[in-house]
Amino acid sequence: MDKIVSLCKRRGFVLPSSEIYGGLGSSYDYAHYGVLLKNNVKGQWWRAMLQERDDVVALDSAIIQHPRTWEASGHLAGFTDPLVDCRTCKLRFRADLIDQAQCGRKPSKHPGETPDCDLTGARDFNLMFETTIGPVAEEGSTVYLRPETAQGIFLNFKSYLQFSRKKPPFGIAQIGKSFRNEITTGNFIFRMREFEQMEMEFFVPPDEAERWFGHWLEQRMNWYTALGLRPDHLRLRAHDQQELSHYSSATSDVEYLFPIGWSELEGIANRGDFDLTQHAQFSGQKLDYVDTASGERYIPHVIEPAAGADRALLAFLVDAYDEDQIEGESRTVLRLHPALAPVKVAVLPLVRKDGQPELAGEVYRDLRERFQTEYDEGGAIGRRYRRQDEIGTPWAVTIDHQSLEDRTVTLRDRDSLAQERIAIAELGEEIERRLRAPWRSPKLES
Ligand code: ATP
Repeated sequence: MDKIVSLCKRRGFVLPSSEIYGGLGSSYDYAHYGVLLKNNVKGQWWRAMLQERDDVVALDSAIIQHPRTWEASGHLAGFTDPLVDCRTCKLRFRADLIDQAQCGRKPSKHPGETPDCDLTGARDFNLMFETTIGPVAEEGSTVYLRPETAQGIFLNFKSYLQFSRKKPPFGIAQIGKSFRNEITTGNFIFRMREFEQMEMEFFVPPDEAERWFGHWLEQRMNWYTALGLRPDHLRLRAHDQQELSHYSSATSDVEYLFPIGWSELEGIANRGDFDLTQHAQFSGQKLDYVDTASGERYIPHVIEPAAGADRALLAFLVDAYDEDQIEGESRTVLRLHPALAPVKVAVLPLVRKDGQPELAGEVYRDLRERFQTEYDEGGAIGRRYRRQDEIGTPWAVTIDHQSLEDRTVTLRDRDSLAQERIAIAELGEEIERRLRAPWRSPKLES
């Protein structure tokens, strides 16, 4: 993990937030390549949800919703973690994760293991961030930053039935920021207080819920492997009865083998009719579905794949990170799926003279119409390749003296290091073709 954190900072993927003020716990800023990478992760999720299907529609709901939302959803009463304080070292721990926590003093042990540890009993701590609406903090003005995007979908269910011309089974998908005042933090962007979720609520006739639950387990696993995550680092883990949320009849987590061990990437739950029933009761609105043909009336059941954009991005980074040797020199390379790579192609003149930069500029301006492209003429060519390898750019185009004679260039592959000579006129099509081709992590072979 240290290597990933350091690469992210060095090359401008993810930076600690508010660093000039000493940082703010578990908050991170996405820098240039991080923005590009995260956009690609989210773009691929939208693609799988919207473009490749015709039974899911999109939503972008407000972050601050009516406070009754969180009464109905159960978050106000139950979205808590058990918190333990140490009166000696003044640190706070999650009671259920105390085995993994470290005491504040040296030599570091688990909280409660030294005679000086003075732990309080566990108290419930609500994870929602509170704020107030309007100029005066008065009764009734308290609102919450959403701790999940899902509820915005349930609040809009009725409107979607009216305008979207969909009927169950159909889904509403949303990507957006969520906020949780997490107690146990650390592990880089794995657990933050402000993060992005990619959630979809799939509404189905009650007797079809089990089948659709299976469908979404399969779809979501396929999404991660198609984007290159190594299958032996990915697994589905079903929650046992004790672990299940009160509303869920079945939940499975997609887990990835992070450097911190197997951890949740995404939760897929069969939520039954809990949410729509609750919101119907609290709002006094009817949220059932009436089939106009058969007259059948029911509250749809809901299958929810709930993923984290940041955790997915971290898994893709961890899975892609590699070090190898080229001609006795070590290189760091991100073996990202080309569809996820922040930059698809780099254009590099071999030397900064003899008309090469001019021709390279022409190639660059042409390619950037179609792909995220970078131009770099500074420094030795080897160093420039290394720089692109480190940010995961799958292809580099090099312009040399021959290019000026016959309008051909070399196309270098990040993983195989193969360099092919190709006509400038065919470059765009060739890169397009490579981007569409199925891709498999070269780390699987090694
Ligand atoms: P955890 O058990 O790790 O706290 P959770 O089960 O509470 O996660 P969900 O409520 O199911 O998480 O949220 C769905 C997804 O949102 C998670 O699988 C994860 O990818 C992401 N997520 C949740 N909390 C955070 C966080 N604090 N930072 C980053 N991503 C998060």
